[in-house]
Amino acid sequence: MSERGLLIVLSGPSGVGKGTVRKAIFERDDNEFEYSISMTTRQKREGEIDSVDYYFRTREEFEAMIESGEMLEYAEYVGNYYGTPLTYVNETLDRGKDVFLEIEVQGARQVKDKVPDGVFIFLTPPDLAELKARIVGRGTDTPEVIDERMKVAREEIEMMALYDYAVVNDKVHLAVDRIKDIIVSEHYRVDRVIGKYIKMLKEI
Ligand code: 5GP
Repeated sequence: MSERGLLIVLSGPSGVGKGTVRKAIFERDDNEFEYSISMTTRQKREGEIDSVDYYFRTREEFEAMIESGEMLEYAEYVGNYYGTPLTYVNETLDRGKDVFLEIEVQGARQVKDKVPDGVFIFLTPPDLAELKARIVGRGTDTPEVIDERMKVAREEIEMMALYDYAVVNDKVHLAVDRIKDIIVSEHYRVDRVIGKYIKMLKEI
């Protein structure tokens, strides 16, 4: 039997460009990993296709999936459910293929609890790296505005602490390269491969 695949989770604050980066990754044809299509109760947007962009479902259907334990994770985001169906993820990992999830932060936290050996990648806004300028702004902002920015930045950094990697989304193609490099390197980690060598030794 082949080794179980890696579960790769891309997440990050709202508006950072997770969807854009994920689409750019899957436009490439050299990926060794598979995308897990999410389920949602939100309305289909123009150009979106059921079972390609999302599995579009009613709230009743979604809640039935939750009840029967068929979701790896789910969250309510801006009034709609979003979640990852469990079966596809498990079957794909069992085939030895890596699975890629692009999900918001509440869902990523649930996956971290359930699959701690996943690869957790946090996409950060470029201006988080320029924290001071971002917060103090042009010098004309009220103390309330500055406080609010401080709060958001603090929350983003606290969220980041749960992840293995922080990738800056300054340019989409650069973020894509960084994420692909991370996935390749993860396969060479000793804690991921040593079991295989120990097993071989025992079989000699
Ligand atoms: P949108 O409605 O713009 O496609 O997605 C809204 C948000 O839902 C994005 O932040 C996206 O990452 C997140 N999202 C998409 N699929 C899932 C999922 O399966 N689980 C969770 N928790 N979030 C998701």
